[in-house]
Amino acid sequence: MVKSSSNSNKVRCPVCEGGQASAFGEKDGYGFLKCDGCGYIFCHPRPSQQQLAEFYAMGDAGAGITATSFPKVSSRKRRGFFNALKLLPHYFARRALDVGCGGGFVVGAMKMLGAREAHGIDINPNATNYAKEHYPNCYFHTGSFDEVKEIASGFDFIYSSEVIEHVEDVEQYVGFLKGALKPGGVVFLTTPDIESDQVPEDKISWNTFSPPQHIQFFSEKTLTMLMRRFGFSPIRRASDRGGAGIKMLFRLD
Ligand SMILES: [Zn+2]
Repeated sequence: MVKSSSNSNKVRCPVCEGGQASAFGEKDGYGFLKCDGCGYIFCHPRPSQQQLAEFYAMGDAGAGITATSFPKVSSRKRRGFFNALKLLPHYFARRALDVGCGGGFVVGAMKMLGAREAHGIDINPNATNYAKEHYPNCYFHTGSFDEVKEIASGFDFIYSSEVIEHVEDVEQYVGFLKGALKPGGVVFLTTPDIESDQVPEDKISWNTFSPPQHIQFFSEKTLTMLMRRFGFSPIRRASDRGGAGIKMLFRLD
């Protein structure tokens, strides 16, 4: 087998399905590749879902979350309210789901602002226990995408903020979003923008480059490419008001 360059690997790209990716760098013992075709940057080999579940249940990422307490509640509530308010036309009097809902702040806000039904899912049971305790008029489900897929159907709107950069398998994640939405349904996604001008030239030194929390990095181009492959069309990109993030709305065709 002839390699296309000295550091190119035969790896299927989960975004464009290309077959070659080059070494991009290493951080904290995790190796990253950049797809030769579309430029998508991803951890390879990726941590298993089991490793990630343990990390989120027991590691620093879940620190301080219990059924009765959640770090930075007031700022999360305020941010959740304003984020939900901007998206109101997409879920008013309809069924809304937050994928990666944490303590349920956006779910609670969507319900309060007029969602007919508001659900949240999260892999961290401490987070969903907190959410159930604080938002009894909403529905919360705990588990991996496989474990919660039974309830994930018939939604008009999905909110999923800062999740896609964490998940073990981005194709499974987008497939899950697709399965959960009605045709014509809308999804709002946010994720760090690897092409932001705020990212240092040595991208791997960016503090957001933090495996095993963040294990893949999108640009507007690669995110749109992945979503299109699953039948979503971009509606628009919202401003991140000086932040280094992508905030985009997509519609399931
Ligand atoms: Zn690619």
